[in-house]
Amino acid sequence: MRPVVRGPCPVDEGGTNVAFTHYSQARKALIQRLGEHCSYCEMHLDSSLAVEHVQPKQPPGATQPMPERALSWDNFLLACTNCNSTKGDTDVVLANYLWPDRDNTFMALVYSEGGKVSAANGPQQAQAINTIKLVGLHKTPDTAEASDRRWLNRREAWDMAQDSLHDLMCCDTPEMQRQIVRTVKSNGYWSIWMTVFKDRPDVLSELIVALPGTNTAATTIW
Ligand SMILES: [Zn+2]
Repeated sequence: MRPVVRGPCPVDEGGTNVAFTHYSQARKALIQRLGEHCSYCEMHLDSSLAVEHVQPKQPPGATQPMPERALSWDNFLLACTNCNSTKGDTDVVLANYLWPDRDNTFMALVYSEGGKVSAANGPQQAQAINTIKLVGLHKTPDTAEASDRRWLNRREAWDMAQDSLHDLMCCDTPEMQRQIVRTVKSNGYWSIWMTVFKDRPDVLSELIVALPGTNTAATTIW
């Protein structure tokens, strides 16, 4: 899961934090900061990319939305329909999960053959598993709803990245590398490409800066 930096709340011309009256008003700024990618599954989206509340704006049992959650810049990410609906209004305790804007989700989640997602061994494994289940990244063709094609999209991305790696080995040119970066920008699944190209630090260094908002500090492990 791509670790991201949302940055401070946008300000108006006078330098004052923008006071959102509806969370949808943050969508444009979030896309500028984070790119048009789901913060959880990393799918590239445009019109259906929704403002996601990390903590639900109206948790179960609440009679009305909580303004400090509904309109808080620090509570916003971007999510696709599947991640958003799977997570639903689960009233999360932040410390029990890993979050792309707070934690090093690049190190904590592992991508493997076919685009499968799992939790890395380590002290944060339990929280990583919770995050994977929270948004449904563990779902397979057997367990996912018919409308949930994230597993298929990840598998296709994995195959595309493998093919691109093979092509690069055959024809290692700056043009080929630029094509790889363009594909990740337009198609998403940054973590899968980072995994497949793990032995090509030259490509990784380009991928790390390819998308807006990537937490580069969390990815400098080479
Ligand atoms: Zn998603």
